[in-house]
Amino acid sequence: MFIDSHCHLDKLDLSGYDHNFADMLQAATERRVSKMLCVSISLQAFEAMYQSILPWSQVYASVGVHPLHTDEGEVDKNQLIELCQRERIVAVGETGLDYYYQQDTVELQQANFITHLEVAGESGLPVIVHTRDAREDTLRLIRQHGSANSGGVLHCFTESWEMAKAAMDENYLISFSGIITFRNAAELREVVQQVPLESMLIETDSPYLAPVPFRGKSNEPKYVVEVAKCIAELKGIAVEEVAEVTSRNFHRLFSRVENDDRLSA
Ligand SMILES: [Zn+2]
Ligand SMILES: [Zn+2]
Repeated sequence: MFIDSHCHLDKLDLSGYDHNFADMLQAATERRVSKMLCVSISLQAFEAMYQSILPWSQVYASVGVHPLHTDEGEVDKNQLIELCQRERIVAVGETGLDYYYQQDTVELQQANFITHLEVAGESGLPVIVHTRDAREDTLRLIRQHGSANSGGVLHCFTESWEMAKAAMDENYLISFSGIITFRNAAELREVVQQVPLESMLIETDSPYLAPVPFRGKSNEPKYVVEVAKCIAELKGIAVEEVAEVTSRNFHRLFSRVENDDRLSA
């Protein structure tokens, strides 16, 4: 079974499914994608997203504000803590720092990142971190404000081996997306070869970043299998092993997710 550790189901293009959410989930099930984590990017959009996933037992959610959603201002810490108590909320995020798209909001991004890290520590939940062009500050804030107990994940990883290594030292996992299948991602594929499978997650970040050979199409959870295939090829192992170990890693990090694999074992 494969697990899509990071997707935005409320943003998917469902026109290929006659706008039927259940059919999209069924397509994922048919490709043995057994679970998915729907990641929050905005508190304003949270409630609608949360209500839409609740009927589906294989879908879990996080709560948080994306670093580029600076128009929402400062995140309300108490509101975040409260939302973390809800059923099927298994992580805080996505949060983090993105200096590539916004350099003029660095202060607000950092303040909100710290709030998320503190909430995660207090709630005992792992953090989903988005980082771009902000290596030093991301690692510094994780070290200063993160909780090694609950840990976290650097999602949609596109950074160097050094950054991966430093994050793993802080009890973080490294999540790879369809970007590793892109033709121009040779350097990133070298990082995939270096990161131990035991520290990896797989994700689609759908609807963005559809993997080869579906590049340019709207992405969705069923394509996470392509990410696993690419990792298997790069490591010279069976795709089954990638599926099994990344699923185990997922359950270790997001410990609130019901582990039926364990029940059936
Ligand atoms: Zn992101
Ligand atoms: Zn995302």
